[in-house]
Amino acid sequence: MAYPRRCEGCGSPYTTWAGHINFPHLTLASQDGGAASPWAPDKPGRILDIGCRLCGAIFRWDYFAVAGDDTRLGKPLGLLRGPVRGWRNGDSFTPDERFWRGASAQRRAS
Ligand SMILES: [Zn+2]
Repeated sequence: MAYPRRCEGCGSPYTTWAGHINFPHLTLASQDGGAASPWAPDKPGRILDIGCRLCGAIFRWDYFAVAGDDTRLGKPLGLLRGPVRGWRNGDSFTPDERFWRGASAQRRAS
């Protein structure tokens, strides 16, 4: 498992959520880069931007990197955004989505 085991923003563990349908983190973006897969060393690795549904933090994640002497894959590359004040579990990460939701609510109100 190369996905993070805890949030880099709020520190909440993700391991206790194994098997849940609504996993508390999601991949917002991905690009080539970082450490190559041990199974495909000639191909580029994968850098993910991961959002924490629990606090709204977004952090960059090197999917195939080995962190320190840990043999597990996956290494945090730093926070892109810290925990969001007033964030509620399940809030949307997509500004556009929030914008359009607001726009349609305004149309209904007028
Ligand atoms: Zn978090």
